[in-house]
Amino acid sequence: MGLFEDLLSGNSFYYPECLSKFVGKDIVSQYKKMKIIQVGKSDLVCKIQKRRNAKKFTLSVRGDGSVALSVPYWSTYRKACLFVNEKKDWIFEKTAGRKVNSMLSLGTKADYLENREFARSFVKKRVECFNAHYQFRYNLIAIRNQRTRWGSCSENRNLNFNYRIIHLPGEYADYLIVHELCHLKELNHSACFWDLVGETIPDCRMLSKKLRKM
Ligand SMILES: [Zn+2]
Repeated sequence: MGLFEDLLSGNSFYYPECLSKFVGKDIVSQYKKMKIIQVGKSDLVCKIQKRRNAKKFTLSVRGDGSVALSVPYWSTYRKACLFVNEKKDWIFEKTAGRKVNSMLSLGTKADYLENREFARSFVKKRVECFNAHYQFRYNLIAIRNQRTRWGSCSENRNLNFNYRIIHLPGEYADYLIVHELCHLKELNHSACFWDLVGETIPDCRMLSKKLRKM
């Protein structure tokens, strides 16, 4: 089942459901303003955003190939998803020949500023949760707005994460957290490194492969 079907069948694994496991409900409800869905069965994703001043559905394909739909507050994500599905041929036509937008190409500076603190508290909670198992020593956790990477671990034991991690399904976010955490011990991608990640994320190699295509 694709994301779209998941969303329609009510088992959307996009936030907030998976988030509600570990963050307060108040943060989750703030986050309900946005969803990212797959367009048809393609690699394309569309960002759906509820806007107070929107009077109708407005679908746009930007210069960088990213697809966004703004919807009025009173509408539902289900309706928005149906709308995107109806318009998928138009979206494919508009994006044809452009570089397929990856998750990393999505988001404006404003989106970053709006979600940075939320991302920080989310990442901090997940790092603490997994580090209960690993018990590694780390210094700072930084949230960044980068177009090229999801995270990194520096020599001085700082962990950096892309704020877009909050837009990922929970299992991918967790995989990224553990990936960077394990670089505190293994500064490479050796078999030892993957074994270490696998202690808490058994399907880490599969998630790593899939994430590269997102
Ligand atoms: Zn790595």
